Amino acid sequence: MLYLSTRGHPDRKHFCDILLEGLAPDGGLYLPEHYPQIDGPALARLRTAYHEQGYAELAFQILSLYIDDIPPADLRALCAKTYTAEVFGTGEIVPLRHLEEGLWLEALSNGPTLAFKDMAMQLLGNLFEYELKRRGEQLNILGATSGDTGSAAEYAMRGKEGVRVFMTSPHGRMSAFQQAQMFSLQDENIHNIAIEGVFDDCQDIVKAVSNDLEFKRKYKIGTVNSINWARLLAQVVYYFAGYIQATEPKAPTLGTGVSSLPPEGVQTALGRPGGGLSSAQKVSFTVPSGNFGNVCAGHVARMMGLPIEQLVVATNENDVLDEFFRTGVYRVRGSADTHETSSPSMDISKASNFERFVFDLLGRDGARTQALFGAALSKDGRFDLSQDPAFPEAAARYGFVSGKSVHADRLATIRDTFQRFGVTIDTHTADGVKVARAHRQEAVPMIVLETALPIKFAETIIEALGQAPERPAKFAGIEDLPKRVQVMPADVAQVKAYIQRHCD
Ligand SMILES: *Cc1c(COP(=O)(O)O)cnc(C)c1O
Repeated sequence: MLYLSTRGHPDRKHFCDILLEGLAPDGGLYLPEHYPQIDGPALARLRTAYHEQGYAELAFQILSLYIDDIPPADLRALCAKTYTAEVFGTGEIVPLRHLEEGLWLEALSNGPTLAFKDMAMQLLGNLFEYELKRRGEQLNILGATSGDTGSAAEYAMRGKEGVRVFMTSPHGRMSAFQQAQMFSLQDENIHNIAIEGVFDDCQDIVKAVSNDLEFKRKYKIGTVNSINWARLLAQVVYYFAGYIQATEPKAPTLGTGVSSLPPEGVQTALGRPGGGLSSAQKVSFTVPSGNFGNVCAGHVARMMGLPIEQLVVATNENDVLDEFFRTGVYRVRGSADTHETSSPSMDISKASNFERFVFDLLGRDGARTQALFGAALSKDGRFDLSQDPAFPEAAARYGFVSGKSVHADRLATIRDTFQRFGVTIDTHTADGVKVARAHRQEAVPMIVLETALPIKFAETIIEALGQAPERPAKFAGIEDLPKRVQVMPADVAQVKAYIQRHCD
């Protein structure tokens, strides 16, 4: 399997080369040359693998369709080391919870930092360690976080050989719980840098350091942001796991697994998006979305033939994506137009993974993708596909629909879900449940991805319910642990000096 850039660059690369890289040389994002197709018998085999051998084996089988430069035995071991009940809390790793008739929550937030980013980041940590060791190289990850990404990266990379993390965050602006999660880590390879400024200042510093190519090369600076293909690929797996759990047969099949094969005559249509298995059971997914990373993995699963009816994109007040799917206009927001909301991990001004979908939507035309994301966006901050014949295909052929949820919806949904089902959901998941209800279809199970646990956003839960959410036992009293953090002004030179001191 080779990977190409969405902007038409002629180079083709193997998985491990793009693993440690960010953007393609032309500024595009990496995608596989084609999507491997899962037909009826192959899906039945994946079902058996999940039921009989577990999530790690399912992950291995899907990943091995995309990774041909890690020996299978090694890749299987990496998956087995990553997806354990100890790390993710249950043997199912991503259990489904029934909420109401036809509606399920898929739990993606039982990893070390209680948000879905652990699902991919934990694997990335192990892949990085493996590949760096193989190459005899070091990597210094420099990032900016407003909360979830930074902690997921730190918990994935802590104690890993060959990797250091330098994570900037806006001083005093993360929740007490988020600060405690990150700053209580005592691992020597993890460095917390609290910047006296806002999140944008942190991002600007990361950009400035990365743009100093000599510094970047000398200190082996890398990133783990959401455009990394390996993160996206890891996320594809839980769409399969959600599908398998929501459809029949649910129990492990006894004996040879033959009974889990679909009836004869099930059709397979290769290369057709939206589940080639015309007579197969279908499900829909609703995904709380910001940078379009999570739901883009759903798009990849659907392109592989997983029988997904709809991919419902749920946004908060920062509705860049909802606007596109409703109108065909993609409009990047300025900072004055980017709202601070009670589902803060979706507070984005642009959706950094969206280019991948548009590339597919435009028939994989790299020149047009370049014209839209390179030229038009930097010049006008927007592009308009409303009159393009491809635009209606986003829904008709690719299954995308969307909706928006605001603070009042979030509170009402959290309250309603608690009162009717005794289940407390976090603010991002609440955006998902709200939007999912508007898109329910008869006889198609709707799976809402639970992207965080409520304890991470306790303030809003208290506002909605008048009581604090339950705190998992392992997080009791973390706010009182000693903190390891360096406070610094928003000054590129000082951040560079700090990195230098801790690398030499
Ligand atoms: C990151 C995050 C999201 C948004 O995911 P994208 O991949 O950026 O669309 C939603 N909810 C939570 C809790 C997150 O941490």
